[in-house]
Amino acid sequence: ATKLKDLDASKLSITKATKPKPLSKPEDLVFGKMFTDHMLAIEWDATEGWREPRITPYQNLSLDPATCVFHYAFECFEGMKAYKDKDGKVRLFRPEKNMDRFNKSSARIALPTFNSEALIELISKFAQLESRFIPDQKGYSLYLRPTMIGTQKTLGVGTPQSAMLFVIASPVGPYYPTGFKAVSLEATDYAVRAWPGGVGDKKLGANYAPCIVPQQQAASRGFQQNLWLFGEEEYVTEVGTMNMFAAIKDKKTGQKELVTAPLDGTILEGVTRDSVLQLARERLVPEGWKISERKYTMFELAEASKEGRLIEAFGAGTAAIVSPIRAISWKGDLVDCGLKANEESGEIALRMKDWIEGIQYGEEPHKWSYVT
Ligand code: PMP
Repeated sequence: ATKLKDLDASKLSITKATKPKPLSKPEDLVFGKMFTDHMLAIEWDATEGWREPRITPYQNLSLDPATCVFHYAFECFEGMKAYKDKDGKVRLFRPEKNMDRFNKSSARIALPTFNSEALIELISKFAQLESRFIPDQKGYSLYLRPTMIGTQKTLGVGTPQSAMLFVIASPVGPYYPTGFKAVSLEATDYAVRAWPGGVGDKKLGANYAPCIVPQQQAASRGFQQNLWLFGEEEYVTEVGTMNMFAAIKDKKTGQKELVTAPLDGTILEGVTRDSVLQLARERLVPEGWKISERKYTMFELAEASKEGRLIEAFGAGTAAIVSPIRAISWKGDLVDCGLKANEESGEIALRMKDWIEGIQYGEEPHKWSYVT
């Protein structure tokens, strides 16, 4: 048998759009609604491997109704951003982390894996081509959505013999255009997002649709997001589509600790989570903080809150970088997360946002910022 071809960035062909789209005013951008002029697409099949990558005008896909993605959810995706620095250069943030996760997600649902460096190179070319869509003000970026689908036409449940990887891009504004707005959460105990042995640590489309009804439920009671708990112990796992962090003072010693749940298979391996942890170990430990990846429960948070030891809490993810939390509704109680009435963010969340944003926009030279 001939060896399957791996993804090869040097084979890229580009067909430019003939009618460039008008640009929206930056302040009118709505997340994920407007797309750029082009898309990147690469087909794969089990006999040949990866075909030549193509950048074409943004267009509809044409798929047979029997295609396996529509029936058995052969779909996984990534979420990452391209930023424009003050010199007009387009930068990615730790793209190799997204590629690693994308490959792991894909492999878990029997879709093909690919050479990460080749896809970073292709995404870089794509982001550069769409550079005019990235407003050059800080806070703005180009959201990139790499997606992989199984394209085999069959209702037989089995390994897809063909697949397609595509990347689309949507210009986005700052998550909090007028500064931070702390959110309130509903601790969800009646529905479970992920479980040991499951696929909660993979970015599969199938993990997201079932979270919308609990999200609607929380919203109907006035809470912006779900806080996903797990098990009888009510371990704190994630918040909406972000990883969760809490800053707590120890009951006996007063030691300040920044805690997040461990990667035990039930937590998405967030790029922002990893970045927050690394920066915290580097910059907060010298200030006396302890940084922990460990299991913690809703009871522990509620007790710390009652005793005035819950310093702050925030979510962490690509969309907002950090999202400060004001309160968590749990068993009919409102657990206060340490913000004063006139405050929208704690100090750690604010500093993390500044640090990470500084790196993303190339203000602080750092190995995490990838110049395309
Ligand atoms: N958890 C879930 C369930 C998510 O969908 C996301 C967004 N990808 C995150 C956490 C945060 O991950 P990241 O920092 O890589 O955006």
